[in-house]
Amino acid sequence: MVSKIYLVNPRGFCFGVERAIQVARQSAMLYKNVYVIEDVVHNSRIAKELSEEGIHKVASISDVPTDSTFMISAHGMSPNILKDIDKSINVIDGTCSIVATIQKMIQRDRSNGKKIILIGKRDHAEIRGYVGVADHKDVYVVYSEIDIELLPDLSDSQVSCYSQTTLPHDIVNNLFKALQNKIPHIEAKDTETLNVCNATQNRQNAIISVVQSYSIDMCIVAGSESSSNTCALRDTAIKNGVPNSFVVDGVSNLSQSMFDGVGVVAISAGASCPEIVVQEIVEYVKNMSPGVIIEEIGDKDICAS
Ligand code: SF4
Repeated sequence: MVSKIYLVNPRGFCFGVERAIQVARQSAMLYKNVYVIEDVVHNSRIAKELSEEGIHKVASISDVPTDSTFMISAHGMSPNILKDIDKSINVIDGTCSIVATIQKMIQRDRSNGKKIILIGKRDHAEIRGYVGVADHKDVYVVYSEIDIELLPDLSDSQVSCYSQTTLPHDIVNNLFKALQNKIPHIEAKDTETLNVCNATQNRQNAIISVVQSYSIDMCIVAGSESSSNTCALRDTAIKNGVPNSFVVDGVSNLSQSMFDGVGVVAISAGASCPEIVVQEIVEYVKNMSPGVIIEEIGDKDICAS
């Protein structure tokens, strides 16, 4: 029987996600059919809603019909993909301003002859976008110590390092230290957190604070497995002493047996997850455990940052 739920703040939508969803909705109203090749944001509920509003997902840019509208998702996109786009297609940019700024810095460094190391997942849209911005030349993606060992000799090159915005900041920090051991002259704007954005850091710090301050039996992170920052929140809870931590896309992922022996639950949400999913999870637990005490905890004022 669950006796207490802590609703962790900040949680849920960041400003980049809010903006991308707003741009998508306005575009769907203005232009009727809008096409994307990557979900506008990585959340199944939002993807379904947007699809019902006229945002259609296609496999590649060549599938976008002529005289239609194409939208770049919040994670940005390689400029190479847009090079061959039909001139009749109207392009709307939903790239988060933080991602767009990193893209510009990579472009500037490449034109100054620097080599680029990216800490991140090579199959993630944001990293694919950065690799494309660097024109696929002298750019290396690392996400493990082995990847770092396999890097070529860069001792005679100027090297800049950037990271995916949505990773656990301890992973980024450890990988950057390993990079500094191999390439002492490597440069980064912030050597502690690289480019992990404030929204990602704030949500991770809030989870750490709650699981370290209270005795938490289970941590639920509302959001989709496809969302990097959502999975990072779950991993942060696990690393900080709550092995019973899950990403939950919706109440259909829950079962009463999951809560056997669970008294206190912390609930957070990834930056692309709407609050309604959190509230549905709370209702599920309330129905199962009438009388459960619910407490909002942490700083709500920084939810959008
Ligand atoms: S998680 Fe960070 S980088 Fe990604 S959309 Fe939100 S604010 Fe932008």
